[in-house]
Amino acid sequence: MANHKHVAVLPGDGIGPEIVDEGVKVMKAVGDRFDYTFHFSFGLVGGGAIERLKQPLPEETLTQCRKADAVLLGAVGGPRWDRNPPHLRPEKALLGLRKELGLYANLRPAILYPGLESSSSLKPEVLEGVDLMVVRELTGGLYFGDKRTEKTADGLKATDTLVYHEHEVERIVHRAFQLAQGRRKHVTSVDKANILESSRLWRSVVERVAKQYPEVEVEHMLVDNCAMQMVRRPADFDVIVTENLFGDILSDEAAILTGSIGMLPSASLGEGTFGLYEPVHGSAPDIAGQGVANPVATILSVAMMFRHSFHNEEAAGMIEKAVREVLASGARTMDVASPGALALSTEEMGDKVVEAI
Ligand code: ATP
Ligand code: MG
Repeated sequence: MANHKHVAVLPGDGIGPEIVDEGVKVMKAVGDRFDYTFHFSFGLVGGGAIERLKQPLPEETLTQCRKADAVLLGAVGGPRWDRNPPHLRPEKALLGLRKELGLYANLRPAILYPGLESSSSLKPEVLEGVDLMVVRELTGGLYFGDKRTEKTADGLKATDTLVYHEHEVERIVHRAFQLAQGRRKHVTSVDKANILESSRLWRSVVERVAKQYPEVEVEHMLVDNCAMQMVRRPADFDVIVTENLFGDILSDEAAILTGSIGMLPSASLGEGTFGLYEPVHGSAPDIAGQGVANPVATILSVAMMFRHSFHNEEAAGMIEKAVREVLASGARTMDVASPGALALSTEEMGDKVVEAI
């Protein structure tokens, strides 16, 4: 029974359902190898939930997630809801899930898989050996601080508030150091301490926490400098830890290192083993329904689920190795195929990974 897992599956909008199908398929295939039994509960989220239930994140979906050991999410959003008022935007569901489920740590590994150098806009020699992890704080900072727009004598005035409590910084920084222990033992803490008060707090907490991890090397970097170094010498980074907005921007920047946004997985973690796993990319409305989306980001997110929620490093490694082998054999979806080459469908790519497993 120890290997019985309840996974809440939220396919969402656009290509979400197509890629999540492949993720579930791979989960089952690996699960078979390790004697897992799964209970999947499918829930509505995003645009689909707005259409059916007039809210992006129905209470029922949240309840399903709370009961589960882990959540697999596809993507939400699309042009159909872009003009909706803020409380009826699909993206609102993502903020709600993070806050309600206490998911304060967002892990985004960026690895350049062999053979994909040519899909990136950077030079192969710059990309060689890229294997970094952005650890983004997910439930604080500008996203959740007070916001308002007021009328003044000089016109409108808009305010966003950047707040961090010491304990919020502490827990994310611990996560980063723990991750670094299992990697190349290097942490880059990114802030704007020359300008921001919250960054000065951030830096002092990093200094204090670092003392508990003497084997891990730590450096501080200003965010503007980090943005530059990431495209100049990306292979030098191991773990990057930073606040919410900086992390949002830097992890998208890291995405271009891997050849395609269709390659990037993510995990959002809180206390304990519960986690939410989703590809970094969005719902890709431009290719939805065509069966051509790259399912690898979702499949690698499933690998992260085995690693972080089920503590099964072997199963996680098996998925990652399968992806590596499949790509090495030349199998490509449209987004990473060379011009003129025959590209696999979403389903065919998923099948290849299952075969390799
Ligand atoms: P969001 O606001 O949710 O980030 P977006 O439109 O900015 O949405 P994506 O939905 O990620 O970003 O799409 C950006 C581009 O990348 C689109 O051209 C899309 O087709 C492409 N893309 C995204 N995901 C994939 C994928 N899994 N496979 C192939 N192409 C993808
Ligand atoms: Mg976007």
